[in-house]
Amino acid sequence: MNKLSNDEKKYLLSTIRDVQNFPKPGILFKDITTLLGDKDAFKFLLDHLENRYKNANLDYIVGIESRGFILGAPLADRLNIAFVPIRKPHKLPYMTISQKYSLEYGFDEIEMHVDAFEKVQNPNVLLVDDLIATGGTAKAACELIREVGANLKEACFLLNLVDLNGTKELEKYCPIYSILEV
Ligand code: AMP
Repeated sequence: MNKLSNDEKKYLLSTIRDVQNFPKPGILFKDITTLLGDKDAFKFLLDHLENRYKNANLDYIVGIESRGFILGAPLADRLNIAFVPIRKPHKLPYMTISQKYSLEYGFDEIEMHVDAFEKVQNPNVLLVDDLIATGGTAKAACELIREVGANLKEACFLLNLVDLNGTKELEKYCPIYSILEV
């Protein structure tokens, strides 16, 4: 499946803004609103993802709240497939399954509707989020997808913070595609 050239990666990366010390001191936040706010860059990213996955025989895109929704939902539409949200606790209205995961201090949790993949038997799923850091959120999402018996074909991220080594654990679940490694 296709990947970007180095020049294309440079272009896309140049549209993402770095914000120092957000949301707390010491964090360098990768702000993708500047990419989303540039119609050519946003189209370029979606064109690339559409090309990469158009023949992947996918049934669902699963997006992680909230930036995974912004990238995943338009991609699902382009691929003419369905979209499933994974959300923070108490946001989804129907029956959910949930998965806890550890943060630097304490725990967080994500949820998915129990019947999210009901329309397709043995569905093929692509997980999408904007960024992988420690990999904790994505790993919890993989557990949820696995729990309902869907086939996780790949996990896709716009950005991978390689120093945090988040892909190491995630590789046990599925292949990983990160467009930009920083
Ligand atoms: P993690 O579970 O550590 O892999 O964190 C991934 C989630 O946190 C993703 O949903 C990201 O949107 C968000 N995130 C973590 N670190 C950053 C960062 N430096 N810049 C932007 N988003 C981040």
